[in-house]
Amino acid sequence: MSVPHSDQGKLQHKSTLYGKSVLNNNLDIFLPSSNKSNILILAGIHGDEPESIVLLSEALRSIPSEDLKNPVVLCANPDGTLHGTRANANGVDLNRNFPTNDWTNKPVFYRVKSGEPQDIELSTGAKPGSEPETKAIIKIINEIKPSSIISFHSALDCIEDPQNTDLGKWISTKTGIPLVDDVGYPTPGSFGTWATENEFPLITFEVPPKPLTQMITDYVPTLVQLLCDLDLH
Ligand SMILES: [Zn+2]
Repeated sequence: MSVPHSDQGKLQHKSTLYGKSVLNNNLDIFLPSSNKSNILILAGIHGDEPESIVLLSEALRSIPSEDLKNPVVLCANPDGTLHGTRANANGVDLNRNFPTNDWTNKPVFYRVKSGEPQDIELSTGAKPGSEPETKAIIKIINEIKPSSIISFHSALDCIEDPQNTDLGKWISTKTGIPLVDDVGYPTPGSFGTWATENEFPLITFEVPPKPLTQMITDYVPTLVQLLCDLDLH
């Protein structure tokens, strides 16, 4: 079943507050009324990667509430998204702030355009798990205990699945985005490392550098299947 196209301009699903950001914005999760597979699907941990928030929202708005079977976080970093910054309002890269064995206080550097030096500096936080957004996501994960986590980013064009799961293979086959077991560079304090250490299998869904309108056509049907009852076979 799908929501009539004319009604898809508004998010009909009811959200649950799981925390507050540095700037006191809501951290919202959309919880299914019943779930069998319990895959946490999360976007927007990097505020300068809004494509996946829109893609996931398009998928969510196209299905009625009763069809949602997996928990969804549309935006894990609302302050960064409002400001268009990769980091949260404290200048912390949340994807380097998780309390992992390899967390480091050394700054992280990134670039905004390929070919440029990787020289824009962000903090990893005053200590592991220092940021309210990080604390809140850890708390809600420990409460809902997802069977898997899918975390969206852009735009490396890969499905990173270190455990080579059936879910990762299914996403790669459906989207045509290549499956990899590693992004190829160290990511201390990342969400993925924290999830692995805490035995939550995590797949990083890196959308390609394609126009959003094209990605809506290409990926929203697969995202709808991920949100609803998923049969991998
Ligand atoms: Zn990212």
